[in-house]
Amino acid sequence: MGANRHMSVDSRGRYTPEVAGEVLPGSEGPAGSRSHNLNSTRRTSLMQEPVLVLNATYEPINVTAVRRAMVLMLKGVAQAEEMHNTEVHSAAHAHRVPSVIRLLAYRHIPQQSRALSRKNILLRDRNTCQFCVRVFPSSELTLDHVVPRSRGGRSTWENLVACCYRCNNSKGDRTPEEAGLKLARRPRPFTLHTSRQLMRLIGHRDERWRKYLFY
Ligand SMILES: [Zn+2]
Repeated sequence: MGANRHMSVDSRGRYTPEVAGEVLPGSEGPAGSRSHNLNSTRRTSLMQEPVLVLNATYEPINVTAVRRAMVLMLKGVAQAEEMHNTEVHSAAHAHRVPSVIRLLAYRHIPQQSRALSRKNILLRDRNTCQFCVRVFPSSELTLDHVVPRSRGGRSTWENLVACCYRCNNSKGDRTPEEAGLKLARRPRPFTLHTSRQLMRLIGHRDERWRKYLFY
């Protein structure tokens, strides 16, 4: 990581705020690949690099993208705790790229605030089919109801798992036992604990994160 890269923020010289909410990068996002493409692709990938977000108390609470982290800094909501040796240029200024930011006001994080969604189920299961235990791109995974809906199985954290199409087909409208399949692990709600595990995984890419992630 780390050769000096000089890039502008966008063609209008402004930062473009993103919609808040989805803050952990998806599996197809920054954690997946470091792009060495040219020019605009490279700039875009830089702005999507993961940034660790700490609460005011230094507790790690999330992962966001460089672009959104810089918006939070410009708004005075957060300050940089660790920086990359990389700058981006807006119309008038050069800004160093943050690696870790900290919120200036304490934010209460509910224990299980994460929305039940396809994206979050795939994140929780780390894009691994829970039956054949192979890793797939998101586009090659579906969600499987462990207890089929036709048997009263509900759409909950405990009954939905990432599943490849092949396993999904062979399981059909049966329980895992009936289909001779075994779950890799019992599905659980996506908790802050899970988020921390993900942060650690992503953090292996960035030395600057370590002291905040209790290595
Ligand atoms: Zn499978």
